[in-house]
Amino acid sequence: MSARTIDGKAAAEAVRAAVAAEVARLSSAHGLVPGLAVVLVGDDPASAVYVRGKGKATIAAGMRSFEHRLPAETTQDALLALIARLNADPAVHGILVQLPVPKHIDPLAVILAIDPAKDVDGLHPMNSGRLASGLPALVPCTPLGCLHLAKSLHGSLAGLDAVVVGRSNLVGKPVAQLLLAENVTVTIAHSRTRDLPAVCRRADLLVAAVGKPGMIRGDWIKPGATVIDVGINRVPTDDGKGRLVGDVAFDEAVAVAGAITPVPGGVGPTTIAFLLVNTVRAACAAAGLPAPKI
Ligand code: NAP
Repeated sequence: MSARTIDGKAAAEAVRAAVAAEVARLSSAHGLVPGLAVVLVGDDPASAVYVRGKGKATIAAGMRSFEHRLPAETTQDALLALIARLNADPAVHGILVQLPVPKHIDPLAVILAIDPAKDVDGLHPMNSGRLASGLPALVPCTPLGCLHLAKSLHGSLAGLDAVVVGRSNLVGKPVAQLLLAENVTVTIAHSRTRDLPAVCRRADLLVAAVGKPGMIRGDWIKPGATVIDVGINRVPTDDGKGRLVGDVAFDEAVAVAGAITPVPGGVGPTTIAFLLVNTVRAACAAAGLPAPKI
């Protein structure tokens, strides 16, 4: 048996096309052009690539992109002052500060400074609290991508047993909350979980968000399960370039699972697509318009 490979790139392209259509409609019907501000502090090459990708995708969807690149030595006060200006700018509907920030800046202070209504990364406690309470919220983009892929495969997820490995505020916890809201029975596993392989083997839906290359082995997977691999890990190769792998040992898992997301090309591309969705949602809310149906 070989698992179906879930095409995250195609799924992301479809979401981006839906966003572009909605942006065109908002612009012509309401004169509303959603705007996303992305702030990068320092010159981490991976972060610079992400920021460039976000800006390009924003413009391709017909939205306004505001990029702020600040030197690594920028003070926390200067960053918070920029966030305050972006909070007050009516052309900016979404604000994303690329994490990690340099060590002298407290990431929580940054997250708390962003207006929750513009918090398109969904990290402000107001949004995570609303998500946990079942209220409308801006939800982190990668978990939205995971849910989208799982639902596109299963339709209804109700009653499934899911195991989410990882409990970060960015991925594990919001994925678990989104699944719970879909009536999934959710177990959240982490570094202190006892007998993780046995816990994983219970899952109809296994979400790996750990950051450890190939940690989840083929014999940890229930035959026929859906596996969503969030991990993005660069491992060395002989040519020195390195390659990206997930948290799941793909070659083993593909022989056991029913469906699996590859790395790259699985969850990754959906993240930017849902950043665009969140920006459109924030723009509609700010303009007093109904939530877009994307
Ligand atoms: P994180 O903040 O480092 O959290 C990792 C989680 O994994 C923690 O909850 C940790 O448990 C758990 N963990 C670590 N070692 C473990 C082990 N041996 N057994 C079980 N659990 C273990 O990472 P993150 O931000 O959630 O990201 C996770 C992965 O997803 C990374 O590879 C990251 O690059 C990737 N990612 C991808 C996207 C995307 O596709 N666009 C977006 C975000 C992240 P404790 O809490 O007990 O320490």
